[in-house]
Amino acid sequence: MKIGKGLFPNEWKTSSFDIDYKDYYDSGFRGIIFDIDNTLVPHGKMGAEQLVSFIAGLKEIGFKLILVSNNSRERNQKFASPLGLDYIYKAGKPSVKGYREACNRLDIPAEKMLCIGDQLFTDIWGGNRSGMHTILVNPIDPAEEVQIILKRKLEKPVLALYRKQLDKYESDYPDHRRPEGKAKIGNNLGEKGRSHRNR
Ligand SMILES: [Mg+2]
Repeated sequence: MKIGKGLFPNEWKTSSFDIDYKDYYDSGFRGIIFDIDNTLVPHGKMGAEQLVSFIAGLKEIGFKLILVSNNSRERNQKFASPLGLDYIYKAGKPSVKGYREACNRLDIPAEKMLCIGDQLFTDIWGGNRSGMHTILVNPIDPAEEVQIILKRKLEKPVLALYRKQLDKYESDYPDHRRPEGKAKIGNNLGEKGRSHRNR
C-alpha cells in the first residue's frame, strides 16, 4: 500500500499543534478538517483558551475550517460554538459522506483539504478515500476509553507496515517527512515549541 492510500496517512505528526500550517497554505491547501476528540482536545473535554487562539491563527493564515466527528450533535455543538466553527456530527467516518459534505460547505475541492485526526480506521481511512491529504497525529489523552485502546492495538500492525513503507520511500523521495514518534499515547500539548521536522 502506498503512502496516503488506504490506512496509511500522508504524514504523521506528534500533534495537531506541531504542524507548520503556513507551509501547507503556501503549497495550495485551503481547508482543514479536524477530528475533535484526542486530536484537538482530550476525549470529551472542552477547548481551552489556547485552542481559541490556535483556531484564530489558522483562520488568519487563510484556512477554512470544519470539524468532522463521529460524536453526537450535542458534543459537536458544545465544542464548536465557542470556537465559532462549523461541524458535521455523527459523520460515520470512515464513510466519505461527511468529508464530501465538508468540502461542499467550505466550497473547497478534496485535493486542497487537509484531514487531521488521531485514528487510522476512521479519520485517516475516510480522508484517504475522499482524496484528501491526511495527517495522523498522536492522541492527546492518556486516559482513553477502552474501545479506543482496543482500536490502537489493531492499528499497531498497520503502523508497523507504514514505517516500513516510509523506509522504502525515503530513497525515492528524500524530501518526504518522516513521522516524529511512535503512536504512543501521550499528551503532546506541551511539545508545541519543539522542532517537528526531521527531513
Ligand atoms: Mg479522535
